[in-house]
Amino acid sequence: MNISDLYKKDKTILSFEVFPPKKTSPIESVYGVLEELCALGPAYISVTYGAGGTAADNTLAIASKIKNDYGIETTAHLTCVNSDKEQVTEVLKKLRENNIDNILALRGDRVPDVEPKTDFRYASELTAFIKQFGGFHVAGACYPETHPEAEDDISDIINLKKKVDAGAEFLISQLFFDNNLFYDFRKRCLLAGIDVPIEAGIMPVVNKNQIQRMVSLCGASLPAKFSKIMNRYEDNPEALRDAGIAYAVDQCVDLISSGVSGIHLYTMNNPYVARKITEAIGKLL
Ligand code: FAD
Repeated sequence: MNISDLYKKDKTILSFEVFPPKKTSPIESVYGVLEELCALGPAYISVTYGAGGTAADNTLAIASKIKNDYGIETTAHLTCVNSDKEQVTEVLKKLRENNIDNILALRGDRVPDVEPKTDFRYASELTAFIKQFGGFHVAGACYPETHPEAEDDISDIINLKKKVDAGAEFLISQLFFDNNLFYDFRKRCLLAGIDVPIEAGIMPVVNKNQIQRMVSLCGASLPAKFSKIMNRYEDNPEALRDAGIAYAVDQCVDLISSGVSGIHLYTMNNPYVARKITEAIGKLL
């Protein structure tokens, strides 16, 4: 299935992201989570990929399980910073053999002390390569608050346009906590001629470690309303969880009523949180 066929005018889709278990845990440890998430009926579930390429087989196994055993559409993430064309070709062949049609093509973050490979410098080059290989629909990542390595917001949008021109049929955004930043970004995209569907990445923050980690990794800015909630409930895990879910639901309601193409929920492999949010917004989609 081509995921970009799911985006319809006046309708918002809900999709999930999951990640493979750590190398020390067996792949089966995530199957219970997948079963619960699939039962919620998302439009599709995307599966992250280790930039080192070490967990490639796990991404494939999980995406295959979601699609072929649970009957939910999937997008396999694929990074290229540490891969050459031969390695990417091998992954594409395996994805094909496993009936996977959709790929989120990413550059990936550089791994400290690992010299990046040079076949693909940017996600747009990987996108073009996958399109040339044939048989896949390709999505790309985008950054409402600008990618941290970009010179400025304008050059980042110009680069994003190159990714769309190379074949990205829809985009999934980095997480953000201030919807206005996403709306401004959508306008910049339109001005640059980027008119593919853009899904809004929403991360329900349900524990203290998560917020510190996420913000240091992706640099999302924190609105005063969000920080107030985090500060007030940081030492009360259940209240923080409920407040984090409520904040994400509030963001989703505003995004849906503003006509966003899709909401991509970073589930953090937490079915409880995904269920609460799905129940709260299910009828609004
Ligand atoms: P690019 O689109 O290549 O952009 C990277 C930088 O290069 C940007 O600053 C851009 O402006 C610049 N650039 C792009 N093209 C050009 C050009 N032609 N000339 C000059 N500059 C250019 N990481 C993982 O390791 N695994 C995952 O599974 C994963 N999933 C993700 C899912 C989503 C939805 C998002 C938003 C991010 C994800 N990431 C993942 C993180 C991602 O790999 C990093 O943010 C990485 O630093 C950039 O990847 P990209 O594909 O956006 O890169």
